[in-house]
Amino acid sequence: MKRAPEPELTDAQAEELRAALVALEAELSAAVAGSQDAAATVKLDAPIGRLSRMDAIQQQKMAEASREGMALRASQARAALSRFAEGQYGECVSCEEPVGYARLRARPEAPFCIACQSSREQR
Ligand SMILES: [Zn+2]
Repeated sequence: MKRAPEPELTDAQAEELRAALVALEAELSAAVAGSQDAAATVKLDAPIGRLSRMDAIQQQKMAEASREGMALRASQARAALSRFAEGQYGECVSCEEPVGYARLRARPEAPFCIACQSSREQR
């Protein structure tokens, strides 16, 4: 069964999402820059016990993973803003169908429609 296509964004919806993207990108970039400092403060050569060293390594790995996640979202937000500038925002970058306002409100940086996103996650 084929899903009904999502309607195109209205101008007001597009403007709202563009503002959300600008804010999201600024927030994520600041968070990535801030967490870089936090991750750097874990000094692995400090004279600490074996267990706390493992804790420190674990914490550093988690900080790196969350920073990578934020950096990825920030770059998706920037990519979405450049699609905006080209008048292609709101189209799935894979199938070119409208992504849909509800999904974009939840994740304004989303490059794919729900159908393409879930088929990518299944691979
Ligand atoms: Zn798609």
